[in-house]
Amino acid sequence: MKHIRPKKSLGQNFLKSHTALTQIIAAGKLNKKDVVLEIGPGKGALTEKLLEHAGTVIAIEKDTNLFVYLSEKFSDEIQEGTFILLNDDILDFSFSNYKIRETKYKLIANIPYNITGAILRKFLSLETQPEKMVLLVQKEVAERIVARDRKESILSISVKAYGTPKYIAKVPARYFSPAPKVDSAIISIENISKAHFASIKEESHFFELLRAGFAHKRKLLTSNLSHLGINTKTVLIECSISTQARAENLTLKHWICLSKKL
Ligand code: SAH
Repeated sequence: MKHIRPKKSLGQNFLKSHTALTQIIAAGKLNKKDVVLEIGPGKGALTEKLLEHAGTVIAIEKDTNLFVYLSEKFSDEIQEGTFILLNDDILDFSFSNYKIRETKYKLIANIPYNITGAILRKFLSLETQPEKMVLLVQKEVAERIVARDRKESILSISVKAYGTPKYIAKVPARYFSPAPKVDSAIISIENISKAHFASIKEESHFFELLRAGFAHKRKLLTSNLSHLGINTKTVLIECSISTQARAENLTLKHWICLSKKL
């Protein structure tokens, strides 16, 4: 395995911290009935812990060399049927492609950072959403998701529209091999559902409005939404939003209210 060079293009930064692994497992609140979906198992550091604590682990690894390595490393678990290892791109993955019965599952992974946004979008908006996620992401992205500076963003509101994000812990860059340029952090997203949306139409309307509201971040919301052609100011007042507000000042509740009225 020493001879397989980490591929930068695939975001390969392997976790080597026992502390971080323990924190991820604890945040997952795993039991032996759980099905876990892992993205990018790499050399299997997290996979090993997941197999210890969960019932079944399904892992999707894009790198064929790593896939072959993992097939050998976990051959017993694969035979037992507690580990399902797939050589695929997570962004193309669907349960039905593999005839895997869709069940309740938790998404737990140290993901390739270059596709963080795509992974969040895919799994939050999926028909069969995970019941919870525990992800290792860039620290700055983790902070943006929970709006640590109290400024909301498209990212934070998009996540909150489906679940409750929580910042778990910082993971310093030196805990990875090779060390990435920036620090990372573990986040969890609990209570995942589509309860805020009565239909797909409502869901897509919500995101259209959100994108419009954030189109020019420094502008007032009234100006970003003025193209909607109705009296936006009145609607803002009805939703208890200041007419001087910028998109970053609005909570999820505000956006939900706006999307019902605009
Ligand atoms: N989970 C491991 C490795 C994390 S590095 C650990 O914590 O040590 C990110 C992993 O995601 C690598 O194994 C990389 O090959 C894999 N990967 C990158 N892009 C992927 C994609 N689109 N689909 C599935 N796996 C991917």
